[in-house]
Amino acid sequence: MPDMQTYSGGCHCGRVRYQVTTALEPVMSCNCSICQKRGYLLTFVPRAQFKLLSGEDDLTDYQFNKKIVHHPFCASCGISSFGTGTGPDQSEMVAINVRCLDDVDLDGLTITSFDGKSL
Ligand SMILES: [Zn+2]
Repeated sequence: MPDMQTYSGGCHCGRVRYQVTTALEPVMSCNCSICQKRGYLLTFVPRAQFKLLSGEDDLTDYQFNKKIVHHPFCASCGISSFGTGTGPDQSEMVAINVRCLDDVDLDGLTITSFDGKSL
């Protein structure tokens, strides 16, 4: 298993900031309607490994389809740096947009394709 590390991340304007502890594996590129348009690279962590440091009041929630997953974005700069939802066992999960983490070499990641379009 790769090592877990604590990363900082957030939106473009800096209002939304968070910390997340993750091994950055797997990182998924998904072809579902929202991932494709937003260009997400996602990794998932249990809610306990995620801490929103600032920007809660700047987030606008966005939901679609079955409205199970929250896709919040910064109302100031429009960047969607994470999402929240529940895993198969109903535990709270956070989807981290790996593109929004500080100091991550995206070219060094192994990206797994996920066929979310077919779900
Ligand atoms: Zn912002």
